[in-house]
Amino acid sequence: MREQNRDGVSGELAVIYDRKDKFLAAGLFDPDSPIRVRVLHAGKPQALDAAWWTAQLDAAVRRRDELFDAHTTGYRLINGESDGWPGLVLDRYDTTFVLKLYTAAWLPRLNKIVALIRERLQPERIVLRLSRNIQSAAEHFGRGRRDGEILCGPALAEPVVFWENGIRFEADVVRGQKTGFFLDQRENRREAGELARGREVLNAFSFSGGFSLYSARGGAKSVTDLDLSPHALAAARRNFQLNSNDPAVAGCRHECVQADAFEWLAGGDAHRFGLIVLDPPSLAKREAERAGAIRAYGRLAASGIRRLAHDGLLLACSCSAHVSAEEFFGAVRQAAANSGRQFVELKTTRHAPDHPATFKEANYLKGIFLKFKSPATAA
Ligand code: SAH
Repeated sequence: MREQNRDGVSGELAVIYDRKDKFLAAGLFDPDSPIRVRVLHAGKPQALDAAWWTAQLDAAVRRRDELFDAHTTGYRLINGESDGWPGLVLDRYDTTFVLKLYTAAWLPRLNKIVALIRERLQPERIVLRLSRNIQSAAEHFGRGRRDGEILCGPALAEPVVFWENGIRFEADVVRGQKTGFFLDQRENRREAGELARGREVLNAFSFSGGFSLYSARGGAKSVTDLDLSPHALAAARRNFQLNSNDPAVAGCRHECVQADAFEWLAGGDAHRFGLIVLDPPSLAKREAERAGAIRAYGRLAASGIRRLAHDGLLLACSCSAHVSAEEFFGAVRQAAANSGRQFVELKTTRHAPDHPATFKEANYLKGIFLKFKSPATAA
């Protein structure tokens, strides 16, 4: 920005003109962020009035119209920038909606947005989630807004329950990571589940057992959830309970291991698995961590491959925006080549389709499926 005609306040509409005073774009003024204007509209001049906001919401909802049937009631309705709502996410978990803000610039507009969502989508309740970096600003300067606050609808005594491809899951929408569930992995979970029949499955970085439930339903012999967090493992146990009327789930042995997955995988346990899922949290939170993260993904894949049985399958995932798909896939392929075992690459994957990505950084999630043909004799 070259010039600013006056000081603005966070959340005010800012209009950007070019050097010849021609309209370029309008957006939310965000003085607390390096992204000074969160662009809402670019191109021809346009009044951002009530009708415009309604159309913006309707467009995001319409984009998901054909994606889901009644077997999936948990999905993303608004995916930030990529849906024209920079720094704002709206997830649906059955009748509970979760509005997550990543910038304080939305706070002055919160009441209007909530009214709009209620009018257009009639949720039972809306829960507010705030990214960590804006929580104290929201409490002190943002009219006392709190992370986890119920903005409308009845109070919540327990996690909400929703459907994903016919499987029941709980989501702790008030305190859980992200908005309570990792909706972006839906398609990868489905694919892993379809490959799990007859296999012993290790779900490393399991969170609440998403990949495990799909594997169990897909006919896995056993699944082991491995996570550092006892809360995540407790949720995984409850998710198995929630689906115990499914004979495949009821018949699948389920174990939980609370441990550091990096150490556990690198350790000496000799047991070999038929399918291993590696879905760690982002290993590069900053650009400076990129090179180290790529090496860490390679080491993790190598540890996973050593634990794979004959004909074993590996699904390795990365959610680091700072690590590109090619860098990540390259690290995993290199680990596979270095293992000395024969392998074939089955496919690479990206986010679920309710997470459209219109720019590079929004394309953070990548997955790669490999099948190791030879016996697990190599070290
Ligand atoms: N695959 C999951 C999402 C994984 S999120 C799904 O489909 O829902 C990443 C998980 O890794 C979190 O549950 C977090 O508790 C766990 N985690 C973070 N660091 C870990 C570590 N060092 N060892 C094991 N688990 C870890």
